[in-house]
Amino acid sequence: MKDVKLNVEQIDADVLCIGGGPAGLCAAIRASEKGASVVIADKSNTLRSGDAGMGNDHFMCHIPDVQGELPGFYNKIGKMSQAVSKIFWENAYDLVKRWDSWGIPMKYEGKYEFAGHSMPGLPKFMLHFSGQNTKVKLTKKAKKSGVNIINRVMILDLIHDNGAVTGAIGFDVRESKLLVFKAKAVILATGKCMRLFPQNTGSLFNTSTSPINTGDGRAMAYRAGCELSDMELNDRWSGPKYFARNGRGSWMGEYKDPHGVQIGSGKEATSHFYPGLYEDYQKSGRGPVYMDLAGISNKDYEDMKYWLIHEANTPILDFFKGEGVDPRKHPFEFMTYGLFTPGGINYNEKCETPLSGLYAAGDEFMSFYIAGAAVFGSIAGESAAAFAVKARSFDEERTQAPVVKAKELLEAVLNRTDGATWQEANSAIQQVMADYCGLTRSETLLTAGLEHLRRLKKKVSQVLMAQNPHELMRCVEVLNLFDIGEITFTAAKERKESRQHHHRVDFPFTNPILNEQRLVIKNENGQPVPEWRMRA
Ligand SMILES: Cc1cc2nc3c(=O)[nH]c(=O)nc-3n(C[C@H](O)[C@H](O)[C@H](O)COP(=O)(O)OP(=O)(O)OC[C@H]3O[C@@H](n4cnc5c(N)ncnc54)[C@H](O)[C@@H]3O)c2cc1C
Repeated sequence: MKDVKLNVEQIDADVLCIGGGPAGLCAAIRASEKGASVVIADKSNTLRSGDAGMGNDHFMCHIPDVQGELPGFYNKIGKMSQAVSKIFWENAYDLVKRWDSWGIPMKYEGKYEFAGHSMPGLPKFMLHFSGQNTKVKLTKKAKKSGVNIINRVMILDLIHDNGAVTGAIGFDVRESKLLVFKAKAVILATGKCMRLFPQNTGSLFNTSTSPINTGDGRAMAYRAGCELSDMELNDRWSGPKYFARNGRGSWMGEYKDPHGVQIGSGKEATSHFYPGLYEDYQKSGRGPVYMDLAGISNKDYEDMKYWLIHEANTPILDFFKGEGVDPRKHPFEFMTYGLFTPGGINYNEKCETPLSGLYAAGDEFMSFYIAGAAVFGSIAGESAAAFAVKARSFDEERTQAPVVKAKELLEAVLNRTDGATWQEANSAIQQVMADYCGLTRSETLLTAGLEHLRRLKKKVSQVLMAQNPHELMRCVEVLNLFDIGEITFTAAKERKESRQHHHRVDFPFTNPILNEQRLVIKNENGQPVPEWRMRA
């Protein structure tokens, strides 16, 4: 019989950033510049963790000297309808300059270059930047700014009471240690939610975006009383077949059918804006679809490889090299990848959530990608630092109950000697999500699937077991996935129409009345409850 006990340690700061991706790091840097004491807790290592860990190559922004004045530009791209969009476009260039000054090369060959991901007829707004080492540079800058970075700590839950958040509970993923973070303000920046739906290679961890991001921020925010939006509107990406890497805006060639007929262009980022193309062709009997690089110039080929490397696509190039394949001579297949969850925590243009002292940024609700993480991370840091100045001091008594509860949960999982592994539980939820809430959805399927999921969720919470703190992290991730899965089912049942990748076979039309509305899921006594709201 095992008797693992977790030692408890306490860490105090004005501002706690949960997650050290570009959003968490930019938040921490800004909060620190504003005079707050800041700690980042990251379950991996901020040097290479999360989606930006191995590199990014394009940064959405507007630069007046290149694209003309902002009002004319945004009238053309039509992206200024919401308060959040307005703030984004007004601030993105400032972040470009700041990143450049921190050693992230935002210029290419001495000048700003907008290229890739372009839509026909619209001005280009993706700035190419050499971002292979973005996280290394941001980590360095954060440390220089006095931020305390604690790696290998997974945050499990927020400490909250009466609508106010005053810290979070985490655990060391390598040692038997529970960490209680006491903070005046907390910023959630844990990225997207992967591993809920199966991906194209069948492996749990071979995913096109970081598999260690499992919607932990969304799950803990929801449990604490935040609303989640658009959870049923899952997204999909595409890329080279059976690779979990895409480089969607970098491919310079043409997409062709098996008879050599062009059906899309890498330069116009068909793969980015129409990721379902490959699957649609397959279904129509006209597939597969190939990326054909024949005929591109040497310069284009070298440029393409440069940007693929900066966007973390080195494995594809290594594969070609290792197999002795010249991709210019051998067209290769593309495919549509699996579903993932871009919807998430509702936060406003100041990054505030409805809970006092709680902020969110970056891919907690995916928009504007890395540039959004930088802009809203910085705004979250500023808002949190300002709040920390006037926040009440931490109430010792309020932490005790959640800490005891968390300790009991974690020790129970660590001490079980018989039960289910996290891999079994993760595969089970992926199966239920794919079969009942995947690409084909209907009232009857969703109802049956939600029942299966709830039964499994209860069972999993009673039988999950971990051999060590690392497996404990995986178990907690799976528990979060069950919460997110239940929320996704609830939202998919409520949206009685088809939109984006939400295909209701019983409601195949898109209802225009819902164009301006969003679906939020609230936590009422532990149950997800849907509600429609006008989009801000
Ligand atoms: C290969 C690839 C290439 C991309 N290229 C581009 C590009 O060129 N341009 C672009 O705009 N976007 C790109 N993106 C998307 C971009 O990287 C993300 O939008 C961006 O990284 C989001 O930043 P974030 O800080 O919100 O999340 P992330 O960068 O994903 O960081 C989340 C952090 O939270 C930590 N974390 C998660 N859960 C917990 C927890 N419970 N406790 C503690 N820590 C936790 C993780 O370890 C991670 O460090 C790319 C993504 C990928 C995967």
